[in-house]
Amino acid sequence: MIYQRSSALFSEAEKVIPGGVNSPVRAFKGVGGTPIFVKEAKGAYLYDEDGNRLIDYINSWGPMILGHAFEPVVNAVVSKAKKGTSFGMPTEIETKIAELAVSMVPNIDKIRFVNSGTEACMSAVRLARGFTGKDKIIKFKGCYHGHSDSFLIQAGSGASTFGVPNSPGVTQGTAKDTLLASYNNIEDVKQLVTSNQNEIACIIIEPVAGNMGCIPPQDNFLQALRTICNENGILLIFDEVMTGFRLARGGAQELFNINADIVCFGKVIGGGLPVGAFAARNEIMNHLAPLGPVYQAGTLSGNPLAMAAGLAMLTELNNNTEIFNRLAEKTAYLHKGISKVLRENNIDHTINRLGSMISVHFDEGKVIDFDSAAKGNNDRFKKFFHGMLDEGVYIAPSAFETWFITDALSYEDLDFTIEAVSKVAKIL
Ligand SMILES: *Cc1c(COP(=O)(O)O)cnc(C)c1O
Repeated sequence: MIYQRSSALFSEAEKVIPGGVNSPVRAFKGVGGTPIFVKEAKGAYLYDEDGNRLIDYINSWGPMILGHAFEPVVNAVVSKAKKGTSFGMPTEIETKIAELAVSMVPNIDKIRFVNSGTEACMSAVRLARGFTGKDKIIKFKGCYHGHSDSFLIQAGSGASTFGVPNSPGVTQGTAKDTLLASYNNIEDVKQLVTSNQNEIACIIIEPVAGNMGCIPPQDNFLQALRTICNENGILLIFDEVMTGFRLARGGAQELFNINADIVCFGKVIGGGLPVGAFAARNEIMNHLAPLGPVYQAGTLSGNPLAMAAGLAMLTELNNNTEIFNRLAEKTAYLHKGISKVLRENNIDHTINRLGSMISVHFDEGKVIDFDSAAKGNNDRFKKFFHGMLDEGVYIAPSAFETWFITDALSYEDLDFTIEAVSKVAKIL
């Protein structure tokens, strides 16, 4: 395929935007080459600036669960826009979407809307600290909770208890309050809790990890976290920015039948507009300003266009709950097809999948945490990525990302994708 115009647009962008992109993963650093510039998208397809059609497995990193330019969402946004785009005053639609979200998600009484998943997670942690009066948090290596300071922490060499910042600009003072554990490793968590008695405000986790490929929680892992939190006065935060309104109507809490104390949302909840949210029981949410002392605010929070898009999206998911099974069936079909082709070509691989999230790792070992995800053959992934792109299939430009299956994908699209894998497998 030809990407002449995309390349030219990227050169222009690089002059005025750092790295030519407004979010780093778009820049193809993980796979080489220059990014594809999108002209428009509809249903399961992207159309780029060179006129290529690509089957999209990223879907804006999750939000477009019903496909691009989904009509009820587009119509809701267009009709709202004509009535004014922001007021900085309350509007009825904010209550409507809040009521709907609270009715869909287990164990929450109130929800506060913000503008991104980053903001949701950052605010949830502040609320947990304010509620418990404790400072430290536990996060899991390889889990992503947005780019606020407390979360940009990686394990230092050795089993250091205190986090080390992995971006300049994050201070040691901030990093020392973020403790790291390995995903699916309950012993790690127990040790941290024992050595930081009465200091830990919350444990934040992606209930199904989606930012190091797709890594489901192992049996009882989430339940064990719940127990540890109960026994130690620690709040359990489910970061459902990726999994919320995707894995089930009520997200991972419903799927695994485990209650979190605070839940974070983003992506699907905004229907493709910039929206995040965090939610909890009254007891916790009432600590938030203006009811309580924990401050949190936003000029554009609850923006009418964003709320209209989110409401249209959630309404559709609420009325068609068979969607989640249908998505899981399509994902299983893709899994089976890709697995068969890779096996026939003797390519070592592991495929992880849950619901409509799936990832292909080029290593035969089980992928259960960041270290096992990092073992994948990255050179092979790069070839795979570019090969698939040439066949007209767009997967994330990084070996550490989940593919997102949308309801707009037909079985012909899935067969086309499996056929593309069989062609690309020959050159891996
Ligand atoms: C995408 C994501 C975020 C960050 O959301 P933004 O809207 O990009 O700020 C946080 N947590 C998880 C699990 C995510 O997947």
